[in-house]
Amino acid sequence: MSQNSLSEIFGSNVFNDSVMRERLPKATYKALRKTIDEGLPLDPQVAEVVANAMKDWAIEKGATHFTHWFQPLTGITAEKHDSFISPTPEGRVIMEFSGKELIKGEPDASSFPSGGLRATFEARGYTAWDCTSPAFVKDDTLYIPTAFCSYTGEVLDLKTPLLRSMEALSKQALRILRLFGNGTAKKVITTVGPEQEYFLIDKKMYDKRKDLILTGRTLFGAKSPKGQEMEDHYLASIKERISAYMKELDEELWKVGVSAKTKHNEVAPSQHELAPVFTTTNIATDHNQLTMELMKKVALRHGLVCLLHEKPFAGVNGSGKHINWSMSTDDGQNLLDPGHTPHENAQFLVFLCAVIKAIDEYADLLRVAAATPGNDHRLGANEAPPAIISIFLGEQLTDILQQIENGGATTSKQGGVLKVGVSTLPELPKDSTDRNRTSPFAFTGNKFEFRMIGSSSTIATANYILNTIVAEELSQIADRLEKASNFNEEVQKILEEIVKNHKRVIFNGNGYSEEWVKEAERRGLPNIRSTVEAIPALIAEKNVKLMEKHGVLSRVEMESRYEVMLENYSKTINIEALTMLDIAKRQLLPAVIKFLTKLADSINSIKATGVNADVTAQSDLLVEVSSLAAMFKKNIDGLEKVVNDASELEGDSYKLASYYRDVVFVKMGEVRDIADKLETLVDKELWPLPSYSDMLFNV
Ligand code: ADP
Ligand code: MG
Repeated sequence: MSQNSLSEIFGSNVFNDSVMRERLPKATYKALRKTIDEGLPLDPQVAEVVANAMKDWAIEKGATHFTHWFQPLTGITAEKHDSFISPTPEGRVIMEFSGKELIKGEPDASSFPSGGLRATFEARGYTAWDCTSPAFVKDDTLYIPTAFCSYTGEVLDLKTPLLRSMEALSKQALRILRLFGNGTAKKVITTVGPEQEYFLIDKKMYDKRKDLILTGRTLFGAKSPKGQEMEDHYLASIKERISAYMKELDEELWKVGVSAKTKHNEVAPSQHELAPVFTTTNIATDHNQLTMELMKKVALRHGLVCLLHEKPFAGVNGSGKHINWSMSTDDGQNLLDPGHTPHENAQFLVFLCAVIKAIDEYADLLRVAAATPGNDHRLGANEAPPAIISIFLGEQLTDILQQIENGGATTSKQGGVLKVGVSTLPELPKDSTDRNRTSPFAFTGNKFEFRMIGSSSTIATANYILNTIVAEELSQIADRLEKASNFNEEVQKILEEIVKNHKRVIFNGNGYSEEWVKEAERRGLPNIRSTVEAIPALIAEKNVKLMEKHGVLSRVEMESRYEVMLENYSKTINIEALTMLDIAKRQLLPAVIKFLTKLADSINSIKATGVNADVTAQSDLLVEVSSLAAMFKKNIDGLEKVVNDASELEGDSYKLASYYRDVVFVKMGEVRDIADKLETLVDKELWPLPSYSDMLFNV
């Protein structure tokens, strides 16, 4: 593709700023910009003009329909398409799209998870245009990003708390900036660049695996003779079929304005990664949803299937999502950039320490963002960062904080002394090669990288939690600084206190090591090993208070999210267990029996010849496989029983989820163990499922 066509393609299906400028009357454009930039309410008359311009533009792009695109608590997006047509008395149609239709939609809310909100409140819901994320055309439909609420105002989606958290952070960060003498910034935005990992496998293999189809992961599968031990896939040259896929994916993403930038092979065979250029959190979240969706759609055009599950294959790396996060002023100053003057450095240290304190005080809440049944296979399982949340700062920055803790009086390793507001920080290494990849929350020069999120998760949850907890710390700091008589001294004191009280969360060593687990325990850091254990943080009093204080979510909304997450956990494991039973009973066991019959037939027919031939190979195998088969059957029955028993716990969502984790999930492991052993013994011709090597080394 030539450079020209790339820039022509990029954003070609987006109703972006330049399209708005070109197509809207000047006054309308100005009014809309004010709404977008300053969050002012949109005048219905303005909406009318915008809707009309948007419709004309969309129709030129081939659109026949429009949809309010929203993000319910399922974690994926939802859409209902309406055509622009409006019949006329003469039996013809005209194309119409009103301001009202642009601003508000009314999808039925009753079939989306609401965690009990539905029972107590109205079932109806509405969607409201989020004009801070641009509309776009895809599949002949105009997509309008929206927030989703119930009619009584309860939030039923992931976008609303995200937008509110951005506002909360902006408000508090501006207070700090004003104290540092910045009178020009109008807004502080949080910026995010999510790196997305995924697997691609051949569709022909996928179609033969009910487990992948129904649960997104393999519930059975003996280890492939070759896995990732040769370390020959990470950043390896990209195969033609994959490369063709990646090219098409890039183009599709560029068209809808997603700035897909980096693509490469990942650690596990058949695993890859895509990263966009960072943007505003809200847009980054929408774009990540689009990315996941297009990854799957484009794969099918290439005879491939894209797996976004956190652990599609046991024994090789799973997939995650790294959220690169920072804060920046509307005029582009990155607030996590250390800067060059003592003044800039002091401001940087305030923002940095606010993040450190936030992570230490709200680690339990942040952990919820990474809590999904799929991610339980990764966190703490020696491949992803551990389930313990700690911060990597690097030696130099840690040393600087050490000096601050000591009142700025000690000599640093570099030989200087540091006094906040007076001394200049030494140049900090950016993107240095010794970056710690085992840390769940790492400072990477001018941003943090949160590495715990699962590959299939929305990034909205992590972001609204991050924004809110940092907003809280900034507000506490601002409260003190606004009252301080000596600003620099108070800054120094606040930083000193934060370092002293929260340095336990800083850890620069190997996060995968056993020693760290012990050390973290000594430091009193939470080690929340599973989703079920993580979820109650949503209703912990301190967390509810925090969310209410900043107007991000109310108590009932937090409670509803708690219910939704627990329900989701139980349902997921239930589906996995039922799928496992189905495959085990109707595919695997019959195959094993066929193989046993084949062995017995072989022994019989050889014996029938009267030749004195050695049949110990067959008979040994017959003994081994039939005893495993008997055990397999017993375990299947056992799993079936515990799944059936689960119904007794319905009504208590926490107990039920715990039961699925402690009993059902454990039993599933036993069934799988035996099946995987059998796979290595039974005739491959008879085994109904494609093997791990068939799937992982086929494209
Ligand atoms: P890695 O070395 O971690 O794999 P990548 O280059 O793949 O790094 O990804 C880094 C991501 O961080 C990109 O999406 C990039 O746009 C994003 N990023 C860079 N600066 C910022 C920032 N200030 N705020 C948020 N994200 C950022
Ligand atoms: Mg990264």
